[in-house]
Amino acid sequence: MPAIAPDDQVFVLTGAGVSAESGIPTFRGVNGLWRNYRIEEVASPRAWHRDPRLVWEFYSMRRQVASAARPNPAHLALAKLEKKLQQRLFLCTQNVDNLHELAGSRQVVHMHGELFKSRCDACSRAPFHDTSTYDPPAGIPRCECGGRIRPHICWFGETPFELDRIFGALNECTVFMAVGTSGVVEPAASFVAHVAGRARTIYVGPEEPANASSFTECHLGKAGEVLPDLLGAF
Ligand code: NAD
Ligand code: ZN
Repeated sequence: MPAIAPDDQVFVLTGAGVSAESGIPTFRGVNGLWRNYRIEEVASPRAWHRDPRLVWEFYSMRRQVASAARPNPAHLALAKLEKKLQQRLFLCTQNVDNLHELAGSRQVVHMHGELFKSRCDACSRAPFHDTSTYDPPAGIPRCECGGRIRPHICWFGETPFELDRIFGALNECTVFMAVGTSGVVEPAASFVAHVAGRARTIYVGPEEPANASSFTECHLGKAGEVLPDLLGAF
């Protein structure tokens, strides 16, 4: 693994796999805790309109699981990389947990939202920190405006957050690394194709992702085992 040059710009995309060793299940893993829920029944605007209590039940469970989790060596290695590269690292995560922040990363772009934030589904009130859990049959929390408080999550069919900044960083990067992401959820799955041909493209995870052919380097293994050495050489 060649070290990165002083003028390299590094873009790192993380997915559910980076938090797997912290005990947060991936969606597609065989041990996925979410198997009791059909994801489109709990993570879409349609689901919210049809059964907001079920949606809050799902996100309450995810908040509970995530609040018990601690960062693993992969999160720590990425936080260390930020200390070294500073503004030359752009860390973009599809994860909604806060393990990158707990590991010490300060600049994290959560393109799919944040589990510990909520917002109103009617007014433009800013998303706010929220660790509450709502167990049915309790009512759905309400905003002062009368709207319903929903998780600050990008659901299926919604547009991810911060896409302008993300594509700006993709356009500038010379090294692109994806960690623990299956390469099927768009638009993140196409980031590698966007930079292919002009940036080094590296994948880290225990199995090849669906978009493996777009990567020039593939390091098969668990993120917590591979990243400390790989990024240490950066
Ligand atoms: P995914 O569930 O589709 O795929 C998980 C990937 O992680 C797989 O490719 C698997 O091989 C890999 N993986 C499993 N264990 C790993 C390990 N120890 N180290 C490295 N990789 C490992 O996840 P995705 O591609 O991120 O996309 C699904 C969506 O699920 C995303 O939108 C994401 O926001 C959401 N999600 C987030 C969390 C979280 O916030 N922690 C958890 C589950 C799902
Ligand atoms: Zn409101």
